[in-house]
Amino acid sequence: MENPLKNVSMVERRQVMTDETATGAVAPHRSSRAGFGTPAKPRRGRRRPVWRTLTLYAVVAAAFGLLVLTLLIGFFQDRATEQARTATTGMAEMVDSWFSHYSPLPHLLARDPRVIDAMANNVAAEDLGWLNRELAIWKDRTQTSDIYLIAPDGTTVAASNADTGVSFVGQNFSFRPYFQDAMEGETGHLFALGTTSGLRGSYVSAPVQDGADVVGVAVVKISIEPLELALSNTPHGAFVTDETGVIIISNLEELRLSSLEPLTPENVAKITRTRRFDLASMALAPIASSGNWGPDRPLVRGPAQDGSGTLRTYLHLTQALSQNPWTLHLLYDTSPARGAILTWSFLAFSLGLAALAMGALALGRRRRLIERLNERERAERELERRVAVRTIALETEVKERRAAETTLRQTQRELVQAGKLAALGQMSAALSHEFNQPLTAIRTYVENAVAFHEAGKNERASDNLERVLRLTERMAQLSKHLNRFARKSDNDMHAVKIDAVIDEALALLSGRIERSEALIVREGTQGLVVMGGETRLQHVAMNLVGNAIDAVPEDRLPRITIRTTSRGDHAQMVVEDNGTGIPDTVADRIFDPFFTTKEVGRGLGLGLSICFNIVRDFGGTMVAETRAEGGARVTVTLRLAKPQRNST
Ligand code: ADP
Repeated sequence: MENPLKNVSMVERRQVMTDETATGAVAPHRSSRAGFGTPAKPRRGRRRPVWRTLTLYAVVAAAFGLLVLTLLIGFFQDRATEQARTATTGMAEMVDSWFSHYSPLPHLLARDPRVIDAMANNVAAEDLGWLNRELAIWKDRTQTSDIYLIAPDGTTVAASNADTGVSFVGQNFSFRPYFQDAMEGETGHLFALGTTSGLRGSYVSAPVQDGADVVGVAVVKISIEPLELALSNTPHGAFVTDETGVIIISNLEELRLSSLEPLTPENVAKITRTRRFDLASMALAPIASSGNWGPDRPLVRGPAQDGSGTLRTYLHLTQALSQNPWTLHLLYDTSPARGAILTWSFLAFSLGLAALAMGALALGRRRRLIERLNERERAERELERRVAVRTIALETEVKERRAAETTLRQTQRELVQAGKLAALGQMSAALSHEFNQPLTAIRTYVENAVAFHEAGKNERASDNLERVLRLTERMAQLSKHLNRFARKSDNDMHAVKIDAVIDEALALLSGRIERSEALIVREGTQGLVVMGGETRLQHVAMNLVGNAIDAVPEDRLPRITIRTTSRGDHAQMVVEDNGTGIPDTVADRIFDPFFTTKEVGRGLGLGLSICFNIVRDFGGTMVAETRAEGGARVTVTLRLAKPQRNST
């Protein structure tokens, strides 16, 4: 077991060293940044909350989405409008060309000399069978509805349908504007329901002139079913209104002969007068306004072209026709455009949503990264704080330990002194013998000298006086050693000649050595100089030699070897004896203070403990062991003041 005093001191010293190192190495750097008790400053304080960032993202995304949607809608509406316009123009041309195709017919008929002749000579209808047959051929060839000739009084005299059940011959059409216009020498136009057939048709008339006189009117009724059939092939609704606003041609059946808007009284009067249509069966067209796609792009809701009876939203475009005072209307189905808008919007929305999701994902990752950095920073700050706290604690501890060390050193010095006093106590008996014996001898020598002097034996007298002188010198020497030993030791360390120290110790112990008849053997290297203090090292040497003498049983003569050697930068002083050795049970404790195996009054148990601490203070070590050949060996290792080149 180790000396507790030693343990405490060594541990403390190590602790202090560690603390100082730790304090020096870590604390100033760290504490200057964080500082103990200083609230940690958040470094990324102006962080926006997640919901605000997300809201911002959403608002930006919504605005962007709205913009994209607007652009998409605009694009598809423009495209649809463009297509509708093209379709409108195409259909207007189709309708115009249809009618322009037939308009020369009545003129051709009116110029036929046979017709002129018949009309100018008022040939009776019964005699015009040839003409009826001729007109029937014309009708078949031109694929018109009817062709007929009217006398100036309005009575039909010849007709392509004369041989049918619905013959015009004999019927009076003087109320029809086309008759009246032709009688005026003009080309007549009229769209109307046939009064006989009840079928719609476009009437074109031309005056039959005999010189300057109008002798009759040639009329061609153009059927419009083929035209409507052709119009039905387009995917859009198409119809034609005449000057009264009535839908006269339409590829949507339900619109035919209805009016877009309620008829004005003038138009009602006009229709009645010319017997164009059956006013009683006319109704408003099932078309209602439904907003617009911008200026000149009205939208309407109307029946689907497939006849399913459902309603569709159309773009309603119009164009005036050139052959007749009519207007072509196109109902452009908006569902494909709306479908495209919907599809593309959905696509854009999905893309936007995906971008938003990716943005949120990226944001999340960025946040997590920042969180991790903050976490690390927090951990660092916490570490700094702990280091600061620990530093302060260590500093306090270091101070306390230094104070304790000072106290210990003081105590140790006092113990050394106490040990010396104890040693003096032990020596007092020997000393009284030491001084008394020479004093008695001096007395005897002086008495002898006086006697010899009186007897005139001066030579013998001076011989005795010389002996007295030697004895007093010896006493003075002893007194000097005692003085030196009793002096309180200083603390400093310096180069000390180890031989001199041993000599001094042996001189002080000379009485005990003599009495015990101990043999002191000096071995090893002479002149070694170690780091230490004379008095304290002398104390060590005295203790070791004294213990060695004590350890030898009385029935044996003590043989004590003091060996000084050096190795590298260390010197060793080895004290060996032929005593009892150090039993295992004792070995662990011999450096403990107040441990002694000696009887009361002979030992205090402080000797080795004090020696151990002295040697340790000099930076050395001390080891005690039993020699293989018996007896004890105590080895004191000290630092050399001047390292030796050669060692023994
Ligand atoms: P003290 O001499 O007062 O007993 P020390 O501290 O000097 O106190 O010694 C403590 C003990 O160590 C002694 O009592 C003894 O038992 C043992 N000891 C010291 N030196 C020797 C030695 N040379 N041989 C055997 N035992 C020893």
